[in-house]
Amino acid sequence: MTDTPITAPQPDTLLAHAGGGLDPSTGGVVPAIQPATTFARDAEYRLISASHLYARDDNDLSRQIENLVMRLEDARDTRVFGSGMAAIAAIVRAVKPGDSIVVQSGIYWGTTAWMRAHCAHVGIALVEADATETERFTETIRESGPALVFLEVPSNPFLAIADIRAIAEATHAAGAVLAVDATTATPLLMKPLALGADLVCHSGTKALNGHSDVLAGLVSTADADSDMWRFIRAERHDAGAVLSPFDGYLLQRGMRTLALRMERMCTSAQKIAEHLDAHPAVEKVLYPGLASHPGHGLAKAQMNGGFGYLMSFLVKGDAPEALAVIGRLNLILRATSLGGVESLAEHRHSLEGDSSGVPRNLIRLSVGIEAPEDLLADLDAALSGLPA
Ligand SMILES: *Cc1c(COP(=O)(O)O)cnc(C)c1O
Repeated sequence: MTDTPITAPQPDTLLAHAGGGLDPSTGGVVPAIQPATTFARDAEYRLISASHLYARDDNDLSRQIENLVMRLEDARDTRVFGSGMAAIAAIVRAVKPGDSIVVQSGIYWGTTAWMRAHCAHVGIALVEADATETERFTETIRESGPALVFLEVPSNPFLAIADIRAIAEATHAAGAVLAVDATTATPLLMKPLALGADLVCHSGTKALNGHSDVLAGLVSTADADSDMWRFIRAERHDAGAVLSPFDGYLLQRGMRTLALRMERMCTSAQKIAEHLDAHPAVEKVLYPGLASHPGHGLAKAQMNGGFGYLMSFLVKGDAPEALAVIGRLNLILRATSLGGVESLAEHRHSLEGDSSGVPRNLIRLSVGIEAPEDLLADLDAALSGLPA
């Protein structure tokens, strides 16, 4: 007998097999959807299945998704939620009134807006700071002594790259917990826990599901015994922000092709970013895959296999010029959200307004899996007619 080395399957393989989610009772090569909310007991009042009591926490598809994402993140435990915001809220609610939170400025507007409202409501000091200024940001952590530091890498819509390793060190020195929202990277491109973060979260609504038909969120931890994780687990179990079995089915099905989709989306995004960067009607492109991006070196060190599917570009002009470009798109859809198989363009300033700091001439672009030449042709046609 020869010793065969046991190697863990690659992430692509884990994803294709949905982490091994066969239906054990039939051998079905896709898992079954179990819509029951409650599970029966036998005459001796024993549960027929010891791991099935009530659907709020006993959803096999959610368990399979959690196990898969845990393996992709090299995490110790994972919980899936009913949306990305529910996942983020579970983390933030762990912070007690009177404590403080340091959060990266210029991140997903929904996170910023909810954190401001929540912290004001319960009496938590919220400190917003630019995380790309590593020294000043870590100084802010030392000064404010927070319970939680929250980053988004790469950030949406600015594609800013924070130094996770350096910020993790400063966070731990201050006795705080570092959470990273890595939605725009997915676990395939970046593993924040390996860079020192304590928690990593995702909106599963975006590239993980990838088909714009499910709301979901995920949180994974590097330490399954921490107080923070106990709180988050209880929050998911008791506060009830769970995923439905049907959404679990769609999320798991979508994730099977994540590796393939990310390959195409990252390659196309890189091509498009380079093309737009050289376009006379474009003032600036924000994409970490461009050598000219201020976070390019850091992104290269922190990410693997691509720089993601999201970018923003500033057209020459103001809001009317940006809206005119978006209005001339024929293929790329005008819609919010990101990470789907269909490319989406959005004028963030129209949603967030002046106080958010989003430039009026910024167009956010989520690159899908369409033929890249079709996307380039659509963008070129939409950009034509603008002053060069
Ligand atoms: C969309 C998004 C969220 C929120 O996720 P939902 O699933 O829409 O609740 C959080 N963070 C980032 C970076 C996002 O893009």
